[in-house]
Amino acid sequence: MAEAGSFADQVKQQADIVRVVGEYVRLKKSGQNFTGLCPFHAEKSPSFAVHPTKQIYHCFGCGVGGDVFKFVMEMEKCTFPEAIRIVAEKCGIAVPRQKERSPEERKENQQRAVLVEMHHEAQTFFVKQVEGTLEGKAARAYLEDRGLDKDAIARFGIGYAPSGGDALLRHLKPKCNEKLLIESGLVSRDQNGGRLFDRFRRRITFPISNESGKIVAFGARALGDDMPKYLNSPETPIYSKSNVLYHMDRAKEGIRRQDFAILVEGYMDAIAVARAGISNVVASCGTSLAEPQIKLLGRFTRRVIVNYDPDAAGQIATERSLSLLLEQDFEVRVLALPPIGDRKADPDLFIREKGAEEYLKLLKEAPPYVDYLIARARRMDLTSGEGKRQAVNFLLPYVQKIPNRILRSEWATRIAQQLRLDEPVLRAALGKAAAERRSEVKIQPELVGRAAKPAERRLIRMLMEAEGFRQELAKHLQNARLYHGLETEKIFAALVIASLSGQPLKATEVGAVLEERDRRLLFEILFEEANEPTWEEAASCIEALEHRQAERELADVQRSIEANPPGQELRGLLEKKQELMRRLAAAR
Ligand SMILES: [Zn+2]
Repeated sequence: MAEAGSFADQVKQQADIVRVVGEYVRLKKSGQNFTGLCPFHAEKSPSFAVHPTKQIYHCFGCGVGGDVFKFVMEMEKCTFPEAIRIVAEKCGIAVPRQKERSPEERKENQQRAVLVEMHHEAQTFFVKQVEGTLEGKAARAYLEDRGLDKDAIARFGIGYAPSGGDALLRHLKPKCNEKLLIESGLVSRDQNGGRLFDRFRRRITFPISNESGKIVAFGARALGDDMPKYLNSPETPIYSKSNVLYHMDRAKEGIRRQDFAILVEGYMDAIAVARAGISNVVASCGTSLAEPQIKLLGRFTRRVIVNYDPDAAGQIATERSLSLLLEQDFEVRVLALPPIGDRKADPDLFIREKGAEEYLKLLKEAPPYVDYLIARARRMDLTSGEGKRQAVNFLLPYVQKIPNRILRSEWATRIAQQLRLDEPVLRAALGKAAAERRSEVKIQPELVGRAAKPAERRLIRMLMEAEGFRQELAKHLQNARLYHGLETEKIFAALVIASLSGQPLKATEVGAVLEERDRRLLFEILFEEANEPTWEEAASCIEALEHRQAERELADVQRSIEANPPGQELRGLLEKKQELMRRLAAAR
């Protein structure tokens, strides 16, 4: 991944993987390596190792492994360029400014920077309004009524857009040109194409940040009875509704640490939950979740508790979100809050009325999504055949979306039991539905590296490390076809090609061209304690391979002989057999 001479390559040369990993994992020196508890799977005794000279890590438990960038990408759930930057910063290496490729791109980047700056300005403006103006006082009273005190207002950057109609416009206009003002979505032009005015008027504003914490949009709630009640920024060059989750910038750390996220509908809900001390909450800011939002979430966790509003729209949104989450292989639970009195409770109302502790309790007990769906289906009339058919038709699409076949089957049994359905009939319907699915169960990577004979392991290691005779060794192995048919054939092939090129070998580069299970085996071999490679040892390993090659050939010849070939051919085979047996005897 890190091209020679590139910035990534420079960082990799200078970065110390032991130091970087050591910021996340407690490492102890053990022989040539450092070991610790694997951060990627739960374990009690350390099977996670870092190699200081090869600058790689490998877990003998779960099989993960790679270089310093891969490690940071996995830990921080970030992209490769972000990982380079993070490692560079950790190691005190100055990050060069990104090169822009074309004048258009430069212009777009500049534009985006201006738009972000404008949102920053607008945010400062809105906050000032809520703090210090008469109109802002009414907004504060409203917020206080909703249980949001001064600290909460400050913490979530809640502001106020005044009613005047052009207050923000007048504030921004001296600094920005008209075209960009309109593009920012903060300002609109009236229908006749004439006058400009503020998009948000007499509204409480909630800044919406992207994942890295930059304000890119606003959500705004009407203070009076103005319609619509909620108004958001339009799509702009810096904001796309389906790409952003409200509160993600502050939630991601908690989500990663706790390995699950709470998904709510609106920003008031997210704020209420976050204020209850539960930081791993995000809001979809709209009734239903979009696929890019799920991808974003998926970088941090695969486990979600959906806690949408209990009204009809919320229920539909819940069900739609479930489908999408299941398709992306998420583990989903659903929290449906009980009504308070005769009022349906969203998270905001529930926490205000019942307190954080009660909410946390229900959160912990939130049932798997299938139970939620079964409960929904049970409300249908299950006494009639038609009703049962309806219930199955309601459930089937969800079950069908579960990528894992075993899980799917378990749920079928549960549904049959809970709804008192005839299980074979249900299974038949399910089977048919499953057959229509395109994507099938993902193949689990093998957890354990395959066994390879000691001679193979040593030769692999020597090809990696024996600077002095690597090329010669590679040539010999290739000419004698010594690794053909071995389990390690692909690893040898990759190493031989790399060795013959005469360039120094890097474990991660060789690993990158291998299949995952071969990459694991290679890394495992690299972590074995070993002596300096010598040609004598190489020669004896080669002999062992020659021996095995002869054995394989002998077995082939024997099979051919037993197939009763015509006389001439048989004589040839018998001669060959004699020769192979002599060779094998001599080697003993
Ligand atoms: Zn592990």
